[in-house]
Amino acid sequence: MLKLHNTLGNKDEEFHPLEEGVVRFYTCGPTVYDYAHIGNFRTFVFQDILCRYLRYRNYKVIHVMNITDVDDKTIQNARAQGMTLKDYTTKYTEAFLQDCKTLRIQLPDLLPRATDHIPEMVALIETLEKKGYTYRKDGSIYFSISHFPGYGKLSKADFSGAQSGTRIDTDKYDKENARDFVLWKARKEGEDFWETEIGPGRPGWHIECSAMSMKYLGETFDIHCGGVDLVFPHHENEIAQSECATGKPFVRYWIHPEFLIVEGEKMSKSLGNYFTLKDLLSQGYSPEAIRYLLLSVHYRKQLNFTKDGLHQAQSSIQRLEDFILRAKEIAKPEEPSPDFNAEVQAVREHFTDAMDADLNTSAALAVIFDFVRFAYQKDSQKAFSGGDAQVAIDFLKEMDGVFGILRTQSELLDEEIAQQIEARQDARRRRDFAEADRIRQWLLSKGIQLEDTREGVRWKRIS
Ligand SMILES: [Zn+2]
Repeated sequence: MLKLHNTLGNKDEEFHPLEEGVVRFYTCGPTVYDYAHIGNFRTFVFQDILCRYLRYRNYKVIHVMNITDVDDKTIQNARAQGMTLKDYTTKYTEAFLQDCKTLRIQLPDLLPRATDHIPEMVALIETLEKKGYTYRKDGSIYFSISHFPGYGKLSKADFSGAQSGTRIDTDKYDKENARDFVLWKARKEGEDFWETEIGPGRPGWHIECSAMSMKYLGETFDIHCGGVDLVFPHHENEIAQSECATGKPFVRYWIHPEFLIVEGEKMSKSLGNYFTLKDLLSQGYSPEAIRYLLLSVHYRKQLNFTKDGLHQAQSSIQRLEDFILRAKEIAKPEEPSPDFNAEVQAVREHFTDAMDADLNTSAALAVIFDFVRFAYQKDSQKAFSGGDAQVAIDFLKEMDGVFGILRTQSELLDEEIAQQIEARQDARRRRDFAEADRIRQWLLSKGIQLEDTREGVRWKRIS
């Protein structure tokens, strides 16, 4: 039984979706004002793992992730660059989607953009106005937090009375400054605006997610996910405005992955430890290693992202890939031995147990490496049959459907390298050892190490 840690209630809960077999899942997507950094990608990789695991457990998942393409920062940056908001945010949306692809993050079923949903936001604000949860000031519309007794239930803070009636216009603020938050910002000179039934202006950040999530997933849906920094005020405000508008519970499970730090310190541009995906790739780290490191620590623990960690991640992936190459050499489409088959079944259960326990990815990875050790042991005892090898390969591919860290054969070996290995074999057959050696050296320079065995040539990637 899958258990997830629900921030609402602050405990692990058995997961039961509202509709049997179907999970409605919303994640706060990027605010496209800049390239996303690896801290952002920790959250996005986690959401990908959650989505893949739900599918592995045979749920149909409807995954919606918004693109915040209008807020304080996008407007400011677009202006500073002399670009239209649309051109500016399109550039960073495309960069984000490309980064996701590189990190093998499966794209959500729907990627709604905030600026395509202004009418839905306006309608939601009108409902809140009619029900008396709002007030107007200088053309802006504010949500009055004192009218919602549940305010603070997600972030576990007591806001009773204190700052009611004082307002805040910025999208981000801390608990100490809890105020009535802005739903609709009056038109300002030089800012993008929309002419609407509630006046000219633009939406606040929080109303965007309520409008888009409920449009595609219904007034009550199963999972809402976002980085832990979104608990307050963003998600607290989403709950307030959604539940006041519909009179129904908004979200059933709130899931919040922790931050990451870099080399033991908080990531910041001034410390020089702020990395985008492109930064790391240009330093020679592989996307698989980055993904592996991001998912290797339980999502509710702080992750220390280090260069050492990236090297270890690379060698962990290498260990799995080397094993698969070894297994491929002997695999045959025949029945595995019964005890090996039983072992695989037991390992699969251990994997599921680990992931069912609030997605304990580090325990699940340990299960996989124990299995590889076990299979190597069988191999060294000459007790690893062709059928066993095939079952082992299939099993690791099944696990990788959840983790997404193994490279496919074509990714492992591009065509040029494959041709060169073949050319070296030819040279050896001609007894042209100088040529064979030249090719071996060339391959080595490409990070491919060859090993001549009685069964033929084996190769592995070295870093
Ligand atoms: Zn959001």
